[in-house]
Parts: sequence; C-alpha cells; structure tokens
Amino acid sequence: QVKQKGRDGFTFYTQRFTDAARKKTEMESELHRAIAQNEMQLWYQPQFHLASEELIGMEALIRWIHPIKGMIPPDLFIPLAEESGLIVKIGEWVINRSCAQIRQWLDRNIAVPRIGINISGAELRQGDLLRTLSNALEQHQIPGQYLEIEITENFMMEDIEKAIKLIKELKNMGIEVAIDDFGTGYSSLSYLKSLPIRRLKIDKSFVIDIPKNTHDMAITKAIIAMGHSLDLEVIAEGVETREQQKFLHDNACNFGQGYLFCRPSTAENIERWLSKKE
Ligand code: C2E
Ligand code: MG
Ligand code: MG
Ligand code: MG
Repeated sequence: QVKQKGRDGFTFYTQRFTDAARKKTEMESELHRAIAQNEMQLWYQPQFHLASEELIGMEALIRWIHPIKGMIPPDLFIPLAEESGLIVKIGEWVINRSCAQIRQWLDRNIAVPRIGINISGAELRQGDLLRTLSNALEQHQIPGQYLEIEITENFMMEDIEKAIKLIKELKNMGIEVAIDDFGTGYSSLSYLKSLPIRRLKIDKSFVIDIPKNTHDMAITKAIIAMGHSLDLEVIAEGVETREQQKFLHDNACNFGQGYLFCRPSTAENIERWLSKKE
C-alpha cells in the first residue's frame, strides 16, 4: 500500500517536473524568437523631485509584447533570461534602444532627463557592460551624463572590489550608479560607504504599505537618514498615494517614482508628455 502510494507520488512528481521543464524550454525558445522579431519594447517611467515636483529622470523598463499572449511583464521572463544567458543579448538591446531613443529626442529638441537602465547581476558577470555602453554612447553620439545604471545590492556585495572598480569606470564615462531595490538584499552598511554610488532606490515593498505598516515606515525613514548621512541621494519607488508622497517628503526623501505621478509608458506617450511640458 505504502509502495503504491510512493509510486503514484513519484509519477505525479515527474509529471509535474517535466511539465515545468517543458514550459521553461518553450519559453526560452520563444524568448529567442522575441528578440529576433523585435517583440521587445522599452517603456519609461518619470521620476520627480518631491519638493518641487520637477522631472529629474526616467527609468527604462522592458516590456515583451507577445503576439498571442499579449504583454509579458519582466518579472516573468528576466529571471529565465538570466538563467539561460540570454540576458546579455537583452541587456545589449536595452542599452542600444535607450541610447537611440535619447538621440532621437535630442534631435527633436525634446528636453530629455537622465535615463536609468536596469542591469542584472548575470549580465554583469557574463557580458562586457563597459564596452557595450561605450559603443552605444559613441554610435549615438550622446554623453554618458544621460545615463544611470541601476544595480542591485546583492551584486555589489558579491565582490566589493570588482563593484568599486566598475562604478569608478562608469563614473569616468559620466554615468551615475544607483542601488536598486535597496533594503531587500544583504548589503553590509559598512561597505556602502566605500561604493562611489550616487543614489539609493528604496524598494517599493517598503513604500506600498505606508501608512498602514509602521515597521515599513520606520525602515523607510532609516534608509533615508542613512543615505543622507553617507551623502547619497534617495529615491522611493512605488509611490501610489498622496499620503506616501507627504510622508516621504516630510522625511526628506529627495525623489519619487510611482503610479501617483506617472505609470511606465511607451516612448510615444512619454514623448507627447515631455513635449507638452515645455
Ligand atoms: P525595478 O527595477 O525595481 O523597477 C520598478 C518596478 O516597479 C517596475 O516594474 C515598475 O513598473 C514598478 N512600479 C513603478 N511604480 C509603481 C507603483 O506605484 N506601484 C507598483 N505596484 N509598482 C510600480 P516592472 O516594469 O514590472 O519591472 C519589474 C522588474 O524587472 C524591475 O524592477 C527590474 O528588476 C526588472 N527589469 C525591468 N526592465 C529591465 C531591463 O531592461 N533589464 C533588466 N535586467 N531588468 C529589468
Ligand atoms: Mg530599477
Ligand atoms: Mg527597484
Ligand atoms: Mg524591483
């Protein structure tokens, strides 16, 4: 009886396993196709100075527009792209698309702020970020001052010396660096002071439950205070309500990004919005 049960359990398990594995392989080959057939789009989300509400930057966020399934959010395919190594290709596309877009806007006299590009750890380990960036900047004839790179704290902590070297080289090119999703990783606070970064981005998981969650409020306040004491700028992501904006502003958070101000949107929509602002 026990044996019977075990065998069923095993069959069930392998069935589920092969289903998951097949789905993954399918998704992987779809990803290959998606890149080849230009199904990826780069959307942008504005970032604001909380005190003056002035536009200070935009984050570039990838979208996969699947011909049948519709829009697939990055959380569903970036991890897979990281595992399969495809992230390097995707990252190169994102960098080139951002630079091409900035060039296009500059050519049309549209005031474009600094654009933040997300770079995942896998990309940094496998690709040649500096070369990809300098090639793109040169090809599109734009200064590095138009770019910011968002890196998560876990990558920085993996190899501090390497991270410092990379950030210094980016800085030499005029490119700023922000630590993304700050507070969710395992960065050691004492190392933070040795990284020549410009900004901390408070992860949206801390912002989203303000003012309901008093612990999140305490953490958010602490991150802002610590950031400032290290001479870093602090930006909050996931600002959805006036109350959250007020709390962040009252606690001297510099910048904010979130649905309250603007949702991520296509280059066309953002361009319309940017041109109207002037
Ligand atoms: P992230 O870098 O932390 O990006 C912020 C995420 O918060 C975005 O999700 C954005 O759409 C979302 N967001 C912004 N404001 C609000 C708000 O008020 N409320 C809520 N609930 N969410 C808000 P998205 O676009 O789905 O991207 C998810 C993650 O995928 C990003 O997190 C980033 O880690 C990754 N990602 C996106 N684009 C790229 C890319 O081009 N390359 C790489 N390597 N990763 C990317
Ligand atoms: Mg980001
Ligand atoms: Mg983030
Ligand atoms: Mg995030």
